[in-house]
Amino acid sequence: MSRDLSALYQQVILDHNKNPRHYGVLDPNDRQTHGVNPLCGDDYHIYLNLDGERIADIRFSGTGCAISKSSASLMTTTVLGKTIAEAKDLIRCFIAMLTAEPDAQCLEKLNRLRVLEGVKHYPVRVKCATLAWRTLEAALSHPDQTVTTE
Ligand code: ZN
Repeated sequence: MSRDLSALYQQVILDHNKNPRHYGVLDPNDRQTHGVNPLCGDDYHIYLNLDGERIADIRFSGTGCAISKSSASLMTTTVLGKTIAEAKDLIRCFIAMLTAEPDAQCLEKLNRLRVLEGVKHYPVRVKCATLAWRTLEAALSHPDQTVTTE
């Protein structure tokens, strides 16, 4: 990655950390889950309102490092209005980007979320970046649905 591009990405992360989008408590809500990363102290709640299969509203609250907060903020802007299936696919792709080799289709879907791709070089921070996504995954998984681990 060129130095300029890397600086641009850093700017996006800092901006979302300073001005997180969809930040706050959603009350009333259809779903809420709590996610914690004890290694870093990241601690967030994710709130959802669903309109059928679609994410009609999403917010998050809590505290954590710049990586975890900007990742949560970027996540909310990306999954808002998406269907549960689309959101789950994005979650899978995002986690793959940071922990494995995502396929080309994933990278295309992730689009601007790739600003966080560089985090994969810092294994300790991967848990920060994926926390909100794992928490959203938990919120989306109905008890009456088949949950697959991969
Ligand atoms: Zn963190």
